[in-house]
Amino acid sequence: LPPVLTIDGPSGAGKGTVSRIVARHLGWHYLDSGALYRAVGVAASWADIDTSDASALVRCTFDTKVQFVEQGESLRVLVNGTDATDELRLETTGALASAIAAISEVRAALKERQRAFRLAPGLVADGRDMGTVIFPDAPFKVFLTASAEERALRRHKQLKEKGVSVNFEDLLREIMARDARDAQRAVAPLRPADDAVLIDTSGIGIDDVVARVLGLVPT
Ligand code: C5P
Repeated sequence: LPPVLTIDGPSGAGKGTVSRIVARHLGWHYLDSGALYRAVGVAASWADIDTSDASALVRCTFDTKVQFVEQGESLRVLVNGTDATDELRLETTGALASAIAAISEVRAALKERQRAFRLAPGLVADGRDMGTVIFPDAPFKVFLTASAEERALRRHKQLKEKGVSVNFEDLLREIMARDARDAQRAVAPLRPADDAVLIDTSGIGIDDVVARVLGLVPT
């Protein structure tokens, strides 16, 4: 089987950015597993499925077709043939994805689909349970963290750049509440794999984080 580098961690730790750069450096494929959960969320909202209707959500997971299409520098995501890239990034979609991700049948339904991304010459897999559940035998595992304050700061800056003004204290409280929920949920609680290398990205630039991750993969 081709090698896999798993990059797990809480949202805002820099997983997406780091994973993309590392994948490009290595010339490996990239799996944004969060986008799969988000895609199911978008499809469910298009179909007017209530978030409390678990069996409909499970059916929706099986029925939803997700395609990743490279378009120059950007990666577009098609949900059932429709470009949903922008809708996928919305805060409301993230919240929907996180509710859907707590259903164990949904996680099971997406397992094989995620494993299918393991293609030569290798895969960088970005998510929450890549190193623990989806690719437990991955030879390279990273768990990225950053303090809640740092992640709130980054998110605040991102939103400000988009012209959205939010209160920093509210953002911090939200992030801390989500951390607690993710760590305590019954299904796939967020935790590093026993053999993962922990990297705290607080106060470290992206380039340094990328260099440390690349240093784990012999070339
Ligand atoms: O990483 P991203 O913010 O796109 O993920 C959206 C949501 O999907 C997360 O809040 C998390 O609850 C869920 N998720 C998950 N397992 C993954 C990836 C994402 O539970 N491997």
